[in-house]
Amino acid sequence: MSESPDITEIRRAVQALCAEFPGEYWREKDQTRAYPGEFVDALTKAGFLAALIPEAYGGSGLKLDAAAVIMEEIQAAGCNGASAHAQMYIMNTLLRYGSEEQKQEYLPRIATGELRLQAFGVSEPTSGTDTLSLRTVAVRDGDEYVINGQKIWTSRAEYSDLMMLLARTTPREEVASKTEGLSIFLVDMRKVVGNGMTIKPIRTMMNHSTTEVFFDDMRIPASALIGEESKGFRYILSGMNAERILIAAECIGDAKWFIKKASDYASERNVFGRAIGQNQGVQFPIARCYAQMCAAELMVHHSAQVFDAGGNPGAEANMAKLLASEASWAAADMCVQTHGGFGFAEEYDVERKFREARLYTVAPISTNLILSYLAEHVLGLPRSY
Ligand SMILES: Cc1cc2nc3c(=O)[nH]c(=O)nc-3n(C[C@H](O)[C@H](O)[C@H](O)COP(=O)(O)OP(=O)(O)OC[C@H]3O[C@@H](n4cnc5c(N)ncnc54)[C@H](O)[C@@H]3O)c2cc1C
Repeated sequence: MSESPDITEIRRAVQALCAEFPGEYWREKDQTRAYPGEFVDALTKAGFLAALIPEAYGGSGLKLDAAAVIMEEIQAAGCNGASAHAQMYIMNTLLRYGSEEQKQEYLPRIATGELRLQAFGVSEPTSGTDTLSLRTVAVRDGDEYVINGQKIWTSRAEYSDLMMLLARTTPREEVASKTEGLSIFLVDMRKVVGNGMTIKPIRTMMNHSTTEVFFDDMRIPASALIGEESKGFRYILSGMNAERILIAAECIGDAKWFIKKASDYASERNVFGRAIGQNQGVQFPIARCYAQMCAAELMVHHSAQVFDAGGNPGAEANMAKLLASEASWAAADMCVQTHGGFGFAEEYDVERKFREARLYTVAPISTNLILSYLAEHVLGLPRSY
């Protein structure tokens, strides 16, 4: 695919940074389930996590398509962008709907790395897919909101200063449209951890720093509200398109990593006196994954371009995420198969990337829900839920 010199330069710069964080670094973090703080700091220092922040607030004011390239290259280098990706897409809600005062207060400090905006509190134990049934409530009390409830899978909460939180401000029975009644808050976690907010880590199959977060009469200033009360669901929807596009780009990077790793290994590994890659039974799965990845990559850039042009890429972002997550998972499986027994050995990094890549057909939105979106909203089939 041809691309502008600026994008090629971004690729080179991310590759150079990632070269400082080789497989041993990630293996050690994975084994101890430790947060890759050094990597996140290096990304921040180089300005990559402020890619979407306008220059007026200290960022580089890049388009989403360029931000997608950053995430893709991180994954293609064998690194794990899940440690930092939320900062890019959460930003979108603040950028589009935050007040000038909120932007002035937070964006420059996020851009310098003084503050981390890494936590996105949407999913709850009883509402992952069904966001509109969430139960965390925020009740106005004078100049404050009082928040009670629980979130789950709030990744990076222990390593973030700020959390974008979705909570119900009007009971579901009292709203005219079911998408109303939810509000978005930018919570300064430094003031509430241990004082109404409790964070409990959840160990998962990969190193993801995810947590449960409990709110017990947590008080935050009313000025933490983003935009208008009750319109929060609408605000996060456009952020979710950005999230899906960036995660799809990460999947493309993962697929590229698996394909390269498998191609290299298949060329080097000799069995029966010749390279295993000489056998079409080994070549074809690699070539098929490459074709699948290239098709998905086109959809990722197309959806980012629709987003950057100010359009609403609901269908495109969903399709990009669907196709890219399936392409990366197919490539992960192929890579293990190509490596035979060595695919299971930690020192090859294949099993680690395999575990990390598994997430993306489930989160941030599962394949079934994307298919049901396309069936209903694009193809006009009857609503299923
Ligand atoms: C490691 C990790 C990190 C995450 N990080 C965050 C985060 O930072 N912030 C955050 O808010 N959330 C986060 N999530 C949550 C994630 O977005 C949800 O797990 C995801 O949306 C699915 O919700 P659920 O787990 O409740 O599954 P459920 O909603 O319980 O669904 C279970 C399965 O049933 C299927 N299903 C459900 N309803 C239907 C239907 N009507 N038709 C067909 N199939 C259906 C789903 O596709 C899914 O496969 C994270 C999750 C994980 C595992």
